[in-house]
Amino acid sequence: MNKKSRRSIVAGNWKMNLLPSQVQPFGEELKALAAGFHRQECVVCVPFVMLPAALKVFEGSDISVGAQNVSENPRGAYTGEVCADQLRDLGVKYVIIGHSERRTLFDEDDIRINTKVRLALEAGLHVIICVGETAEQRNMDVTFEVIKLQVKSALYGLDEQKLKRVVFAYEPVWAIGTGVTATSDQAEEVCSFIRGVVRAKFGGRIANGLRILYGGSVTPENADDFFLMPDIDGALIGGASLDPHKFFSILEESENNED
Ligand code: PEP
Repeated sequence: MNKKSRRSIVAGNWKMNLLPSQVQPFGEELKALAAGFHRQECVVCVPFVMLPAALKVFEGSDISVGAQNVSENPRGAYTGEVCADQLRDLGVKYVIIGHSERRTLFDEDDIRINTKVRLALEAGLHVIICVGETAEQRNMDVTFEVIKLQVKSALYGLDEQKLKRVVFAYEPVWAIGTGVTATSDQAEEVCSFIRGVVRAKFGGRIANGLRILYGGSVTPENADDFFLMPDIDGALIGGASLDPHKFFSILEESENNED
């Protein structure tokens, strides 16, 4: 299975931006722009409080809705948390797990991330697992060691069947929200490495079907460089996903690339 047979994904991560009242107008605009663009998957990951509005506006469209986090606990006495089966019951398809902002600001380590991944997959969700090295780690030449540890830990205890609902996003921490992107060669090198780590653990069939995204200051201007790469199957987009026109332009680049 080569790149052509993997359905690419353009996913937006709104982080803690926009307001619940902005979801409907945003959604209507994006739906109108993206009508007829079905070859790749389009996902919009919004804050928890905006999930119902996002599900409503994208209902019946090709655009899926995702959350940006999930509890590492099943249902119970965890005030303020949202668990995987609650997301699933609401109709959410995707959840981002292990974003670098959560790893650094909320002390999420690889063990907690693995717990979240397992609970999310058990609940029937699809997961976008973020991995990436810091600038210091790249300078110290330990990028591949860091990525291998993150990928292997995230997948610990999973069976092949569950891997079908796993997507990785390679997001070098130094490229997130900084305007500095990895070069397409740097991104490809790591995405291909991630595929290799998965191949070593689960075999060629699973690895070749795995979708791996690049994230880090992707814009309509640079998206194409990444989409041309053989091991990059789309993008996870922060800043540029807040504007429906910019987000759509990236989707359009991805679609054009599949011709
Ligand atoms: C992100 O938050 O996942 C991200 C890639 O952000 P940005 O596109 O703004 O760098």
